[in-house]
Amino acid sequence: METPAYELYDEVEMKKPHPCFRRSKRFQIVRVGADIKILCLGCGAVLMMDRDHFNQRIKKVVAKHEAPIVPSKENA
Ligand SMILES: [Zn+2]
Repeated sequence: METPAYELYDEVEMKKPHPCFRRSKRFQIVRVGADIKILCLGCGAVLMMDRDHFNQRIKKVVAKHEAPIVPSKENA
């Protein structure tokens, strides 16, 4: 399956929900580099993973954003 084109601050839907109380599948990309950092829009947690891992887990880009939607609870 083709990986959707994504860039920094995109709001994305992942194939699997974050195992937090909200079970959110919506995340925002907060860092793009050798590793990708995504912020769970349900609980605000930041997850870091390598690009290959992320490419396998992203389902689609939901919306484009210019800046972080919510303040991170961690240093991004
Ligand atoms: Zn979460």
